[in-house]
Amino acid sequence: SAKGSGRNRVACFEKGMDVAAEARRNLELDLRTSLGRDEMRLHYQPLVDLKTQSKIGYEALLRWEHPARGVVMPDDFIGVAEETGMIVQLGEWVIRKALDDAANWDEKLTVAINLSPTQMRSASLVSTIVNALAHSGVDPGRLELEITESILMHDSETNIRTLHTLRDLGIRISLDDFGTGYSSLNYLRSFPFDKIKIDRCFVSEIDTREDCRAIIRSVINLAQNLGMTTTAEGVERQDQVEELRVEGCDQVQGFLYGKAEALQEATDLRSDDKMVPNVETIYLPAAE
Ligand code: C2E
Ligand code: MG
Ligand code: MG
Ligand code: MG
Repeated sequence: SAKGSGRNRVACFEKGMDVAAEARRNLELDLRTSLGRDEMRLHYQPLVDLKTQSKIGYEALLRWEHPARGVVMPDDFIGVAEETGMIVQLGEWVIRKALDDAANWDEKLTVAINLSPTQMRSASLVSTIVNALAHSGVDPGRLELEITESILMHDSETNIRTLHTLRDLGIRISLDDFGTGYSSLNYLRSFPFDKIKIDRCFVSEIDTREDCRAIIRSVINLAQNLGMTTTAEGVERQDQVEELRVEGCDQVQGFLYGKAEALQEATDLRSDDKMVPNVETIYLPAAE
């Protein structure tokens, strides 16, 4: 009967919710043991100076190598880590590991680390960073912290105070994914960021859409007037590089110059090599 099938559907729906809840619980449990089992890795993506085409530094991007799940990307576990508070411990590992890694690079190369809202609110953030800097011996001027607008939406007074404390240590602060959040201009006024990272969604169409190009032009203008550096994220084609150069963008980052990878070769750690666009990888479907 109709009534019966309706009930079945409800049962199915509830079972579906159970399955989703269980998958999330399993992910959470696996995440809890990941650090103890040495399953986390940092991959590094180069940032390139648009004028000189030389490497400026790297952004650290987290990868989880789970024995059964394979490589899990941050978008698939950072959310759960955030909600459960595990991001604080995970983030502390990232900070220590990235700085210890950077200690082996050319001293001119910067290291960028992403911070999420829960980390920002954590009382131990500043001491973790100070201790990791001391342990690694890396100059604070080489460290860039990337935050998103969401950090300025909640507890903004406390977070802004923390940002000032970090900046007073000589650390640079970047506004990541710019253009994807809310009331961006107001957030630009609330803290003197060192850098604006223009989100990939604008960059990916700068060479095909006039509106995207106009937005990027305005953001670069705004950043220049505010004394901030600009980085274009997600650059995949040489045409985009040419447009960004015309608009006066300072730095680029994207698959055209390299995906995030484990750093092994000694050449990766030098700053003097010119970055050659990687034509082989650019037409591959986004594997990351
Ligand atoms: P994000 O900080 O905006 O990092 C840029 C993302 O864009 C990275 O994805 C990178 O691999 C990808 N990307 C870079 N160039 C290109 C390109 O040319 N084309 C395309 N299609 N994608 C490109 P990933 O590594 O999956 O990271 C996603 C997000 O996860 C990051 O966005 C960041 O918000 C977060 N995340 C990554 N590592 C950490 C971490 O250690 N801590 C925290 N809190 N968040 C992290
Ligand atoms: Mg980032
Ligand atoms: Mg970004
Ligand atoms: Mg992002």
